[in-house]
Amino acid sequence: MRAVQFLGDRQAIVRHKPDPHPGPGQVVLKMRAVAICGSDLHRYRAPRGDQPPSELVPGHEPCGEIIEIGPDVRGLKIGDRVLVYHRIGCGTCVECQTGQPNICQNGQRSYSGYFDGADAEQMLVFARNCHLIPESMSWEDAVVISCQAGTAYAPLRRLGASGRDTIAITGLGPVGLCVLLLGQAMGARMIGIDPMAERRALAERLGAIATFDSNDPRLGEAVTDLTKGGATALVETSGHPSAHARIPDLLKVSGTAAVVGLGSSAPSLNPISMFKKQLSLFASNLYPEWMLPEIFDFVQSHRVPLTRIITHTATLDQAPDMFRLADSATAGKIIFRFE
Ligand SMILES: [Zn+2]
Ligand SMILES: [Zn+2]
Repeated sequence: MRAVQFLGDRQAIVRHKPDPHPGPGQVVLKMRAVAICGSDLHRYRAPRGDQPPSELVPGHEPCGEIIEIGPDVRGLKIGDRVLVYHRIGCGTCVECQTGQPNICQNGQRSYSGYFDGADAEQMLVFARNCHLIPESMSWEDAVVISCQAGTAYAPLRRLGASGRDTIAITGLGPVGLCVLLLGQAMGARMIGIDPMAERRALAERLGAIATFDSNDPRLGEAVTDLTKGGATALVETSGHPSAHARIPDLLKVSGTAAVVGLGSSAPSLNPISMFKKQLSLFASNLYPEWMLPEIFDFVQSHRVPLTRIITHTATLDQAPDMFRLADSATAGKIIFRFE
């Protein structure tokens, strides 16, 4: 099969690799849709060291069709369309046993971080990480859900987003745009905040009631005026220290902020700045595996147009160009399709 390999220093190649075969509890997928994620770029950008480059296949947003089944697999058959949940916890702690391997504290393993990932023609996965994609759902919707729409759904659910809310989103990359589409479907009015004019324009086309430039020094006042006192909630997806520092200016009294974006770990928000308005804040790390059927159902029943965040569809052979494009931060979601 063909598979992507990162060589370091922003170089990706497509090379041949032996086809995988399933052991006990495993299945092999023929990939149908996989997507590039912002977090893939950390490894893509890593400097080329003295060691030979890792042969681990990148990609953690996998959707495919089962073509081979190993011993001791129940409940799956050849031809099933599945989405693979990419984080694998220890399997024994209380978080793992309650369907939350995303917050397992006993050493995270993942597809693309420990096992071969999705950017290949085939992928070897554990059957227990496979989730059946509803029959009428497209591969494109499923691949957007696998990482980014799931990451957007979980904090909105925890906020209890509804028609009573006006929610500010800081950062309008693919996760921020998924927050916009899903929050809207939950009934909330959504405000987009980002330094890039193209991203703000896209957010407006997708239904944001207003967008603002994060570099605008009057941002806090503008949001307060528009919302008559501040947003009821905020979802921070940019990972920027300056966005963290601004959270108290954008929220109304008793508002809540969800922090989703990873970026700089520099100190950025003094908790005392949350005091005057008695604000709340929580972190949301990916989404729990148990939530997947609910997310499928929500996206389908509300016809959330997730595929509108996809700007490029390519073949695996175009991976070197597509990673260059993703690295330039000028594209929306980039997906690979396989026939
Ligand atoms: Zn991802
Ligand atoms: Zn665990």
